[in-house]
Amino acid sequence: MLKLRLLNAVAPAYFFIATAVTFILHFCFFIPTIFPNSDTSLKSSTTLHTIVFLFLIANETGVPVCSPHCSDKVDAHYLLNNRHFCKLCKKVILKRDHHCFFTGNCIGNKNMRYFLMFCIYTSCICMYCLVLGVAFLTVEYEISFENPLTFLTLLPLSTGYFFMGTISGLQLFLVLMLYVWLGIGLVCAGFCCQQVLLVARGQTWCQMQRGQLVENRSPWRSNLKDVFGTRWILGLVLPLQTVETGDRSHILV
Ligand SMILES: [Zn+2]
Repeated sequence: MLKLRLLNAVAPAYFFIATAVTFILHFCFFIPTIFPNSDTSLKSSTTLHTIVFLFLIANETGVPVCSPHCSDKVDAHYLLNNRHFCKLCKKVILKRDHHCFFTGNCIGNKNMRYFLMFCIYTSCICMYCLVLGVAFLTVEYEISFENPLTFLTLLPLSTGYFFMGTISGLQLFLVLMLYVWLGIGLVCAGFCCQQVLLVARGQTWCQMQRGQLVENRSPWRSNLKDVFGTRWILGLVLPLQTVETGDRSHILV
């Protein structure tokens, strides 16, 4: 339990430090180098990239993934069935899916939509920064990424060159960040796809891990509407409360 509590404190800190580092790298290194101020023809591109980056990072960090407490609907079903109770949050969660250590909250029916948005935008911003990072390394250090195998050899070669004193610590750090963005981006995208599939099937992560199959009582559109509202495609894109939540307390899993 102590390990889980420690992880619950370290993972959000890691997430916010990685976000802050990404923010600094983008505005202090990537934009000034790839789109220099001296070139007026690139001003519109600089503005566009700044807007895209700020939109992605605002959606990633601004999504309210708070732990959904359903104290008003605690009944015998929830109290007897311990999979609805989280020992870390010390809360009973309606249709509990899993505990997310990066947000430090439980994910249940009420905040699943925000959690999926958090995954989507984290994945998008990681892939976006990966592309800008590659462009920066190409412009600043003349590293060619034309060969697809470059990604396999870049980290070991950069580490070797760093200890030989050939490249700077900043260059090695940027190379490391490329792998961090690639890893987080792919993991978030994969996890998000899996969660959307589970939501569409009306199943939770807890049930899948226990090998429990739910009776498909409603079609996938209806399951998606339960989480994202009637305008569920809009609910996937906008972080605002644009969709009605409705009373889904009747959903027992
Ligand atoms: Zn929890």
